[in-house]
Amino acid sequence: MSYLEMLKEDVRFVDGLKACISCGVCTAICPAAEFFDYDPRKVMIIVQKHREEELESLLRSNTIWYCGQCMSCKTRCPRENTPGMVIQALRKVSQETGNFIHSEMGRQQITVKRTVGDNILKLGYCVHPDTLDPEKHPEQGTVWEWIYENRQGLYDRVGANLYSEGAGAVRNIDAESMEELRSIFRETGGEKMFQLIEYYSEASNPETT
Ligand code: SF4
Ligand code: SF4
Repeated sequence: MSYLEMLKEDVRFVDGLKACISCGVCTAICPAAEFFDYDPRKVMIIVQKHREEELESLLRSNTIWYCGQCMSCKTRCPRENTPGMVIQALRKVSQETGNFIHSEMGRQQITVKRTVGDNILKLGYCVHPDTLDPEKHPEQGTVWEWIYENRQGLYDRVGANLYSEGAGAVRNIDAESMEELRSIFRETGGEKMFQLIEYYSEASNPETT
C-alpha cells in the first residue's frame, strides 16, 4: 500500500485536508512555528501534491514531531483544514512503516512509549508520582526530589488518594477498569502501535532494549 493510500484510510487526514490555498494563516497562528524550524503550511502543500518520495521524506523528518497538537490552526484556516490532524495521520503512518527511526525527533518515540505509553497500561496514568524518578527527570527541579521522597505523606495532606482504593487523585485504578482500558488499546490498534515502535526501534538500534 502506498503512503497516500495509508493516509487516505485515516479519517483525520480525509477531514483535515480539503484544499489548501497556501495562505499561511495556520503558520502565522502556530505556536510551534515560533520555536522550531516548522511550518504547517509547507506540510499541507507537500501532502497535497501526492508525491510518494516527498511523503517519505516528510515521514522521515523531524518536521512531523514539532507540532504541539494545540489545534489553533483548526480555528483559523479559511478552507476549514486542520494541519494538526493531518500531522496526526502522518505520525501514525511514520510509526506503522518504521520511518520514524530516521529522524532524531522520531527516535524519541521509544522513550515516549516506554514512559507515557507503558504507564497508561500498567498504572492507568500517563504520568504518576512513582514514575518521575528525580534522577531521570532533572527537569522537574530540586523541589521534586523532596516531593518524590515524601510523596505518601504529602499526597495525604492535599487530600489525594495515593496507593489507595476508592475515589480521589492518583488512586489505584481497579482491575476491571484497567482491563477495560487495556482492551481499548487492543481494539483500537494502540497495542499494535506500541509493538511496532518497539520492533523498529530495536531493529535500528539493539541498544534500546
Ligand atoms: S490556513 Fe489552511 S489554507 Fe491556509 S495554508 Fe494553512 S491549511 Fe492551507
Ligand atoms: S495543532 Fe500543530 S500545526 Fe496546528 S497550530 Fe497547533 S502546533 Fe501548529
